[in-house]
Amino acid sequence: MKFVSTRNRCGEEYSASDAILKGLAPDGGLFVPKTMPTISPDFTVDKGLSYAMYTAIKPFFEGDELEGELEEICRNAFNFPLPFYRQDNAKEVMELIYGPTSAFKDYGARFLAFTMEKLLQKRGEELTILVATSGDTGGAVASAFHQRNNLKVKVLFPKGRVADRQRAQLTTWGDNVESYEVEGSFDDCQKMVKDAFMDPELKGLSSANSINLGRLLPQMAYYVYASYLFLLKYGKKPVFIIPSGNVGNCTGAYWAKAMGAPIERIVLAVNENKTIPEYLDSGEYIPRPSVKTLANAMDVGAPSNMERLFDLFASYDEFKKNVSAWSVSDDEIRATIKTVYDETGYILCPHTACGEKVRRDHFESEPTIIVSTAHPAKFETIVEPLIGKTLPIPENLYNITQKESQAKEIDTDYHKIF
Ligand SMILES: *Cc1c(COP(=O)(O)O)cnc(C)c1O
Repeated sequence: MKFVSTRNRCGEEYSASDAILKGLAPDGGLFVPKTMPTISPDFTVDKGLSYAMYTAIKPFFEGDELEGELEEICRNAFNFPLPFYRQDNAKEVMELIYGPTSAFKDYGARFLAFTMEKLLQKRGEELTILVATSGDTGGAVASAFHQRNNLKVKVLFPKGRVADRQRAQLTTWGDNVESYEVEGSFDDCQKMVKDAFMDPELKGLSSANSINLGRLLPQMAYYVYASYLFLLKYGKKPVFIIPSGNVGNCTGAYWAKAMGAPIERIVLAVNENKTIPEYLDSGEYIPRPSVKTLANAMDVGAPSNMERLFDLFASYDEFKKNVSAWSVSDDEIRATIKTVYDETGYILCPHTACGEKVRRDHFESEPTIIVSTAHPAKFETIVEPLIGKTLPIPENLYNITQKESQAKEIDTDYHKIF
């Protein structure tokens, strides 16, 4: 099994392990399978989540140096539940929100961390992961890499611009996780990371962002798992409706479908960042600056995983045949959270609300799985006033908020983090 760059399918080939350690291909492209594998005959949903994830990911590690360790990596990474909430007959919500930081990014970040740890231990190497974050990603990465051997993490975030609970998820880890509260903007933090990568004096640096193959593979695997479970339960293939920003999560779904998973269709729910719906309408792809919305983890105007979707669907016609996307406004997010709570008592986060809105408007009569991407208690300042009550806080989130912050305050000079 080999991986190539989206920018040169006939170029150099990499193993899964090498692609994961590199992050980005040397030509700036993203790693994709040279040939998409089909679902393994070993794939099974009968032995629980982590084993299903293992058997779904396995074909991508065929012949890889970590092939023999993959099952253990999956057992360690996916050690929390994945429940499906039943809205109605053949209508479900896939709740990817019970990991350590209560968001779907825990799946990718944990798989990446355990994979990197194993590889570095085998090779006798060490790495320092640099993350600039405006919120969710940094928390999932810090949590996943906390106490992983041969790895250090340095998290940079803009002072005064992240929510209290997000800040706790960035700053209370200690040990091999250092966090830096930067006197500046998110863009300043990103620039510091870029400058550090360019500095020839600094060696052994890596990133953990959402274009890394190690984050994508688990996001493929839970769609394989969910679609087979759904088919067994209802005898139908689900339409997945996925709240999307950098389109990493939905790219996982498209890979699952390309491998042969029983998926009817994959639909993107975006916020007021409309780059993809506009492309579908016009045929012209025009990345834009991001717009601020209530679903802030999806505030993306130039989705970083787009190259992988273009690699999968090379022509506009092919893209249009396979991808649908609808935009949901902040007013619609608010109204959907309130209506769904009033009607059913179910509480949505602002991102998941985009998915529910698209389901209600376009897929009411079809078998659907909406993807729940974050726990509503992470966005309590938005959700609580709408439903008129205080949300119970998940235990993991509560525990983190009780620990002491270890953040160091610095200016925008990247030398200060080394
Ligand atoms: C990151 C994130 C998204 C968007 O996922 P992409 O893979 O970037 O499309 C949606 N919801 C939440 C809560 C997120 O953290």
